[in-house]
Amino acid sequence: MHALRDHFGSPCPRCAKDILQPAPSTNRMPGQDLAWCPTCHATLSADDLARRRAPKRGSFLSRLFTRPHAR
Ligand SMILES: [Zn+2]
Repeated sequence: MHALRDHFGSPCPRCAKDILQPAPSTNRMPGQDLAWCPTCHATLSADDLARRRAPKRGSFLSRLFTRPHAR
């Protein structure tokens, strides 16, 4: 289960220059659950975001937690 809302306010995975916002639901896909980047105009589904973020977040957290033990 991927909650798209969890990704709102996160840095855009494509350009990293802006944060993800709820996509404007006025155009072809009203009510579609998409995150939208106002800078590069990327539209990302919850699945896209989960795929892009899961490995990154995992390695980031594992680094945080393993670094003190490694020394
Ligand atoms: Zn972007």
